[in-house]
Amino acid sequence: KTAVQSDIEIAQQASMKKIMDIASLLDIEEDEIELYGKYKAKLSLDITKRLHNKQNGKVILVTAINPTPAGEGKSTVTVGLGQALNKLGKKTIIAMREPSLGPTMGMKGGATGGGYSQVLPMEDINLHFTGDIHAITTANNALAAMIDNHIHQGNDLKIDTRRITWKRVLDLNDRALRKVVIGMGGPTQGVPREDGFDITVASEIMAVFCLAKDVADLKERLARIVIGYDLEKKPVTVKDLKVEGALTLLLKDACMPNLVQTMEHTPAIIHGGPFANVAHGCNSVIATQMAAKLGDYVVTEAGFGADLGAEKFLHIKTPALGFNPEAVVIVATIRAIKMHGGMSKDQLKEENLEALSIGIENVKKHVETVEKFGLPYVIALNEFITDTAAEIDFVKNWCQKNDIPMALTQVWEQGGDGGLELAQTVLAQMETKKPAFTPLYLSEDTLEKKLEAIVTNVYGGTGVELLPAAQKQLQQIVGEGWGHLPVCMAKTQYSLTDDAKKLGRPENFTVTIRELKPSVGAGFIVALTGNIMTMPGLPKEPAALKMDVDEQGKAVGLF
Ligand code: ADP
Repeated sequence: KTAVQSDIEIAQQASMKKIMDIASLLDIEEDEIELYGKYKAKLSLDITKRLHNKQNGKVILVTAINPTPAGEGKSTVTVGLGQALNKLGKKTIIAMREPSLGPTMGMKGGATGGGYSQVLPMEDINLHFTGDIHAITTANNALAAMIDNHIHQGNDLKIDTRRITWKRVLDLNDRALRKVVIGMGGPTQGVPREDGFDITVASEIMAVFCLAKDVADLKERLARIVIGYDLEKKPVTVKDLKVEGALTLLLKDACMPNLVQTMEHTPAIIHGGPFANVAHGCNSVIATQMAAKLGDYVVTEAGFGADLGAEKFLHIKTPALGFNPEAVVIVATIRAIKMHGGMSKDQLKEENLEALSIGIENVKKHVETVEKFGLPYVIALNEFITDTAAEIDFVKNWCQKNDIPMALTQVWEQGGDGGLELAQTVLAQMETKKPAFTPLYLSEDTLEKKLEAIVTNVYGGTGVELLPAAQKQLQQIVGEGWGHLPVCMAKTQYSLTDDAKKLGRPENFTVTIRELKPSVGAGFIVALTGNIMTMPGLPKEPAALKMDVDEQGKAVGLF
């Protein structure tokens, strides 16, 4: 086993095909593709319209157990499984999120897979790519500017400057911007008020962008966004400000999904990228729909563990998509299981069967959750060099004993070849077990019932507690007629609870909701738990410290 090279070194040695050659493998016509250089392209929404009557490909959703801070290889397995299915002769397209610069420069690293299962060109995708996230930042901040200008120009809508919920955004981790005061300096500088910044990927515009079916739907959703409240505490919307047209215009090109390729030339559509802890965590509906028209199989990913990304995929994205995944892959690693079994982060390289036997309960919980949704699944054990034979055997035996389909994957080390067993196991599960997709709540259920359903069924807790502020917000939300919307939980990714330190499979806990925030444009109610931040901070040693450009102009140190 060789692990001497970093992801970026492996990626830079790989040869790419011209993106036109990748497109020509798919049913894409020449005027439906817009080239962004040689290796990236945007795809016209006309493709989905033209293929309207074609049957959708089968969607395979990749999720994970609660991860370690380094990530468990979900993107890597997503790419590797796509490559493996193609090796088996299945026409497969990968659909993934666009990486946010926050974690890239911060601590988590890129989001383009790893080892021999990466999407290319990884430097571009991890940095500015085709500018979609910048367009979303701009649309968000254009709206903020319109709000402050409206107030400065006389405030016809009587917006209560103390009740503006719309914040400015930036796609970076920058804790110093969480709370700011704007409009300082006298009458010509606008009206002073408290404001704040979120990270772009937590913005409602990102969620709207990712849930819209087409440009018309995008515009309708943008119009419905509530930016705050007036002096009578009535909601003020984008429509009231008459800027939905301008915002749609700013997002017009970004709406087109981006086509790239993997190291083995499997087509990958990368589009939209909300976080799964503070937002809904899945790539755009437009991209998944298009991938399903172009491929017989679509491998897609939802952020973090099945308690966050997969739950939101199934309750929030699936209704917008119009069809559900037909199988779920749950990525687990020995190191994360051991961490759930009580080992500290710096010990994870040591063999410890006892920690494994305790930590495996976290895997069990996610398996039970996916079973509740009625979907066939496979555990993908993402093998690391530090895993011992005894540890791998333990997990294999445990799966066998519990009748849980499982495959060991070495896609990081071997690319598609390392995922053949996983691909075959997934195909076999899809063939033998028909999905009977069952959401865990209905849209007509009350918001309390929806929260309860997620906490008890997905997290394994006993119930929810709403702090007084959240209770008041709940009354207003119901009063405004938004009670039918699904909820989008903002929760730590590390634990099944709202406390990042409680690992494994905690029992007898409740989840505290401190704030409920309507995202009426996106079409969900955000429930904020614990001290989850919508603008992250940088760690003591940010990943940015390792980054540079060499004499040839090549990126270095991007993982
Ligand atoms: P996730 O999508 O779960 O956050 P990623 O796929 O982005 O995780 O992987 C996180 C990091 O771990 C990447 O740098 C990747 O190269 C690395 N990685 C993933 N799988 C393996 C593996 N089996 N062995 C070594 N490194 C791996």
